[in-house]
Amino acid sequence: MHYQHKRVLLASKHEKERVVRPVFFDKLGCEIYTSDFDTDQFGTFTGEIPRAYNAYETCILKAKSAAIASDCLFSVASEGSFGPHPSIPFFASDHEIMVFVDLKNNWVISEQLVTPKTNYNRLTLHAGTEVEPFLQSVQFPSHAVTLQVNDTKEVLGKGIQDVGLLNQLIKRGFTYADELLLATDMRAMMNPTRMEGLSLLAEKLASRILTCCHACGAPGFGFISTAETLSCSLCDGPTAMHRFERWGCIACAHQEKKPRPDHLEKAPPTYCHYCNP
Ligand SMILES: [Zn+2]
Ligand SMILES: [Zn+2]
Repeated sequence: MHYQHKRVLLASKHEKERVVRPVFFDKLGCEIYTSDFDTDQFGTFTGEIPRAYNAYETCILKAKSAAIASDCLFSVASEGSFGPHPSIPFFASDHEIMVFVDLKNNWVISEQLVTPKTNYNRLTLHAGTEVEPFLQSVQFPSHAVTLQVNDTKEVLGKGIQDVGLLNQLIKRGFTYADELLLATDMRAMMNPTRMEGLSLLAEKLASRILTCCHACGAPGFGFISTAETLSCSLCDGPTAMHRFERWGCIACAHQEKKPRPDHLEKAPPTYCHYCNP
């Protein structure tokens, strides 16, 4: 088994070790530790520091820089993006990426999770805007909120879990701004729903690290893309549902075609380009 008894650095200031450490210990036998490496330099949710690369690149950069800074060979980092769900319009979704970097072999193993289970939301405030319904809908105060000046994005408060403090900050903000932005705090330690998703993703990543390539033995063999499409159960025409999964190796060119996990052989007409255009 790769990485057993190895020390793995988790590049996070946001207490993600609470969920990553037990999973990596149980499944891989490795010890997760953290350093005081500042991951905010790669971008913050509140936008004071914009992210310069896409989420996947940022995640790898974070993991590699943290590992190099603390002279460590193995590291883990994760990166979340929030916005409209890719297949369910009007629903927010949480898209999480987690990478494991092995600097000894120059390997990167990654997994992702897209889930509609998120409280991600924001509300523009004008003087007198009612905040109570918003706070209830985002599970405040177990889930914290952030408050910013809307046009400059100046942060008035982060990690707010007290309604009295929030009201004070709102009052202060309106002494010099016309519009404020109240938003869910998406940092893992301020957001139990996100932390739950990260736990699932850590499980997925650990399973992938455990899966080795049949050709070269490298860890991290797994899903890379979908392949071909299922035909319609009604008219036999092409549909939007994929037929196979293509799995690949992170170190060599070996690939395998795998059946869908649900073993479907025909697609319901709802996904047909002809029956349900
Ligand atoms: Zn059809
Ligand atoms: Zn291989």
